[in-house]
Amino acid sequence: MLNWSIISEMKKVDVRERILGGILGLSVGDALGVPIEFAYREELKEDPVSEMIGYGYHNQPPGTWSDDTSLTLCTVESLCNGYDLEDIANRFLRWFKEGYMTPYGVAFDVGKTTRVAISRLKHGFSPKESGLTDELSNGNGGLMRILPVAFFVQNMNIAEQMRITHEVTAITHAHPRSLIASGIYVQIIIGIMENLDPETALLRAKKIAMDFYRDEPFARELKHFDRLFSENFMNLPEQEIFSDGYVVHTLEASIWCFLNSGSFEEACLRAINLGDDADTTGAVTGGLAGTYYGVKAIPERFLRKLAKAEEIFGLVEKFFESLYK
Ligand SMILES: [Mg+2]
Repeated sequence: MLNWSIISEMKKVDVRERILGGILGLSVGDALGVPIEFAYREELKEDPVSEMIGYGYHNQPPGTWSDDTSLTLCTVESLCNGYDLEDIANRFLRWFKEGYMTPYGVAFDVGKTTRVAISRLKHGFSPKESGLTDELSNGNGGLMRILPVAFFVQNMNIAEQMRITHEVTAITHAHPRSLIASGIYVQIIIGIMENLDPETALLRAKKIAMDFYRDEPFARELKHFDRLFSENFMNLPEQEIFSDGYVVHTLEASIWCFLNSGSFEEACLRAINLGDDADTTGAVTGGLAGTYYGVKAIPERFLRKLAKAEEIFGLVEKFFESLYK
């Protein structure tokens, strides 16, 4: 007789594959989107992107990733030595000043809120005070780089998971709405790491968010996530999914693309071809899909073109070893 538990065990994507898939998936989604950042959706409908094309808006060679990946990798590198908020913030500063963790030595595609927060760090603000707290500072710049925190906090209790997620987000984006968005994303990733399917991972994150964010200043912000948590979210038509730089839209768009596709490639291409903030929507979606489908599901033709792919691979291996030694 067949031993079904062994077979389902074999099919399971293992932890290492998920962590590699998540970070490399985020980098691939970012790099796929970079050339078409700010492109119109109608134009992409006529001529969708399905390869690492390069050039375009930022005039970078194929495979070039942007701020999303740079700041994610700064966080990965720092977390290899344990959690140290100052150290993460210092690496962000080095990225901005020296082009640390960039494909070709220069930071590009820096968001407004991130720029202000980093200049505050430069002027001696602590990373607990550097982030912007006004309502207009709810771009996707905290969400786009939070993925490695999910892998780091996975086995902690929920309060610790949320505390670290919020602190790292708040280095630049400290408004409660941005913190909630990161909290939801991290909880979905943790659900995926626990082998849940995408829909169940979203439901689990919803349950945790509804409970964890029931007090102020979060409670009044939860209404911005009503649509994401509504029963019919997955079935919304594409024209109701927005791909601009607002954190709630990026979270919605990436989860919607993830729920409505059957592979890593499909999810990422769907995300970038929404246009506008294509690289960040691609990165946030690539993080979800890469974690879910695992690194082996990322098409080789994308990885071959990805800038510094071997270095990223090596860094994530080191991160994995540090977490599971
Ligand atoms: Mg970017």
